[in-house]
Amino acid sequence: MTGTTGTTAPTTNAGLYEAARTVIPGGVNSPVRAFGSVGGTPVAMVRAAGPYLTDVEGREYVDLVCSWGPMLLGHNHPAVVEAVHRAVDAGLSFGTSTPDEARLATLIASRVPVDRVRMVSTGTEATMTALRLARGATGRNLVVKFAGCYHGHSDGLLAAAGSGVATQSLPGSAGVTEAQAAETLVLPYNDTAALEEVFAARGADVAAVITEAAPCNMGVVAPAEGFNRFLREITGRHGALLVWDEVLTGFRASDTGYWGLSGRPEGWTPDLWTFGKVIGGGMPTAAVAGRTEVMDLLAPLGPVYQAGTLSGNPVAMACGLATLGNATADVYATIDRRSRQLEGLLVEALTTAGVDHSIQRAGTLFSVAFGTSARGVHDYADAQAQEAFRYGPFFHAMLEHGVYLPPSVFEAWFVSAAHDDAAMERVAAALPHAARAAAAARPAAG
Ligand code: PLP
Repeated sequence: MTGTTGTTAPTTNAGLYEAARTVIPGGVNSPVRAFGSVGGTPVAMVRAAGPYLTDVEGREYVDLVCSWGPMLLGHNHPAVVEAVHRAVDAGLSFGTSTPDEARLATLIASRVPVDRVRMVSTGTEATMTALRLARGATGRNLVVKFAGCYHGHSDGLLAAAGSGVATQSLPGSAGVTEAQAAETLVLPYNDTAALEEVFAARGADVAAVITEAAPCNMGVVAPAEGFNRFLREITGRHGALLVWDEVLTGFRASDTGYWGLSGRPEGWTPDLWTFGKVIGGGMPTAAVAGRTEVMDLLAPLGPVYQAGTLSGNPVAMACGLATLGNATADVYATIDRRSRQLEGLLVEALTTAGVDHSIQRAGTLFSVAFGTSARGVHDYADAQAQEAFRYGPFFHAMLEHGVYLPPSVFEAWFVSAAHDDAAMERVAAALPHAARAAAAARPAAG
């Protein structure tokens, strides 16, 4: 195959990885893709359809990553592809307002109680903007986050930031100044006493508490009964904002995101929300949203600056609109059913192979943790204490049998509405091999 540079492109996963490593740091454009915690060579995908991915060597896999969440309807859903084609035909980017950006904002606001939505390109930008807004609105500096929650890679939010960082075994990140780190207080998740203590000591300085609506980046960790309600209450009591990160759970955990399972039944709303993944349907789009008086502090109306050359890009808006517009009650029912079926198959295989484990579930999202049946996983310390060494062999056995899982135990498993009986049968056939591999795994010496 001859590329535009005149060089011959490798056609194997190993060859592509080797070539990528000569021009891309670590050969990947996002660290978890490097297979750092599971070992082996990253797989380069070239095609996707429904629940399947195909790699550069022509091998097909059932996809249980779904691009880390966005592919709610499955890959290349006809309505989404048609909408994107139409948008591409009309022009890739105008750098102006376009009709679809207000349509997508309106669709989001019809599902969750927000007045204003500002489109950005990544979840990282969304949480960064939300915290700038919270600081601008309150005139305070401190932000409270929870260990194991990931909110993107902006400075100050990388302390104890879950999956990617945990996978790389880094304590946080070099390049984040002490001053920035000092303005982020990191508390154990699900720990109301730690929050009471911080607010008692420094409540007048806290601009915001940021939380994943249900953490999915230390594996899935369900919020303890009443924990999110407590966050709403204590932030309100101290004049701080509650920033509710639904980049991953938004319009996936339910039709109204995790809020539909937490805030709505309990009758409360956060101050600021962040969305990503599903609202872009596989194109780079995310959003920060909230009530008018906070959101209108954003430029051009207010003093909090935020901008983006490709924000509200017309192709991305068309993709997001078609994805969210087709995310019907049936879609959510299918995803719920398939994720529970998958959990059942997983539990059966692990139990048969005698592998101690717990299933961590929040709405339609779940993950597995090894050696944790006695207590489950309730915070980052629990997640890190598990028998993570069992996941590499488990992952590779699944890969060998045609199932693509997240290459880290600290990630959720994702299904789509396109996961049908045939795809589930392939997963069911692969799982016993993987469970036996997990059972045979031993910790690395030393
Ligand atoms: N917030 C959460 C909860 C996430 O899971 C992620 C990414 O996985 C982000 C923010 C960052 O989003 P992005 O990767 O689009 O910057």
